[in-house]
Amino acid sequence: MDQHQVLIFRGGDESGAAPGKGDIVGRVLVLNAGSSSVKYQIRSGAERLASGTVERIGEPGSPAADHEAALGIVAGELAERDLGFDSPELTAIGHRVVHGGTVFTEPTPITDEVVRGIEALIPLAPLHNPANLACIEVTRRLRPDLPQVAVFDTAFHATIPPAASTYAIDRETAVRLGIRRYGFHGTSHAYVSRKAALLAAGSPANVIVLHLGNGASASAVSAGRCVDTSMGMTPLEGLVMGTRSGDLDPEVIFHLSRREGLSIDEIDRLLNRRSGMLGLCGDNDMRAVQERVADGDPDAELALSVYCHRLRKYIGAYYAVLGAVDVIAFTGGVGENSAPVRERALTGLSALGIAVDPVRNGRGESLISPDGALVKVAVIPTDEEFEIAEQTLGVVERTNLE
Ligand code: AMP
Repeated sequence: MDQHQVLIFRGGDESGAAPGKGDIVGRVLVLNAGSSSVKYQIRSGAERLASGTVERIGEPGSPAADHEAALGIVAGELAERDLGFDSPELTAIGHRVVHGGTVFTEPTPITDEVVRGIEALIPLAPLHNPANLACIEVTRRLRPDLPQVAVFDTAFHATIPPAASTYAIDRETAVRLGIRRYGFHGTSHAYVSRKAALLAAGSPANVIVLHLGNGASASAVSAGRCVDTSMGMTPLEGLVMGTRSGDLDPEVIFHLSRREGLSIDEIDRLLNRRSGMLGLCGDNDMRAVQERVADGDPDAELALSVYCHRLRKYIGAYYAVLGAVDVIAFTGGVGENSAPVRERALTGLSALGIAVDPVRNGRGESLISPDGALVKVAVIPTDEEFEIAEQTLGVVERTNLE
């Protein structure tokens, strides 16, 4: 890979440095495949050169029968803009991979062995890891010359200590089957916690990140290391989400099976796809929920209050885990845009030094706590693709130096 033996300027928005003569600005194709979608971006640092999504993969009437066909559409869209897979200016391809288990705790250059490792983790992420692998297989075939890097959604949480990552079940069974807390949304928690820490007066900073999108998770980060997170072995645990229940008494599952005769797969679908805000009030889009609350709809009001109560509970829990908190950061579609959720979640916490300035919050300013507050409350838009591109370039640079 001689053509990559160059100094790559990582055009990050925090480095402050400008590219020098002879440096090239690393250009990364970031692929983020879900079970039925592929999102792509071409990033050059903070600059987004192209982006798009292919959705409804495999559904009737969709132009993409599978992930390979979806990547064909991506390739076509990119080629129209002279940014195709064959572009000589591409430095690397970064793949978001959902589950790295305990094996992959860092961004990893993709080799045959790494592909086998990701395959071995399919039982822990049966919908996502196969989609990620399908994309990896195609892009390795199309560009065997190009460095390809797997950036794992679980990796940022690998520092969580055993006291927080261990479930209190039979030890031998848990170890044998890999049953433990892994956590997800890792690239978002890494990116947002790093930005949030810059707002703290002193270092090392203690930060609580609330990533509230369609999926939602909280994390507690101390001096750049994640010490706890709300998602668990799978992304079902923790906060109330668009269609997922979050925390639940496990006995509810046995009750549904015994009393309703539901199969395990039916209960899986119920808790992952028909619960959360959707299950509570019939709408999983927070904008619709908020409009209904404003109109006095009791089901929407209950749903929003359950959502915000759970959030407040996790903030209190992570305050206790961290001992002290410098910054609480809201991110994701709900966290970045919903002033009512931010306000409700933080109401009644003034004894902990946590408060929200209603005017700043209403305007969606980046700092929404009052001046002089003990805990800064921030709205920080996440940028997972930037983080994946940066981590990908970091691996390419390290590999070049070895
Ligand atoms: P994400 O998964 O991060 O893209 O977040 C998507 C979710 O953000 C949507 O389903 C909405 O519930 C929520 N959202 C987006 N815009 C707004 C908004 N202006 N106000 C409240 N919620 C929003």
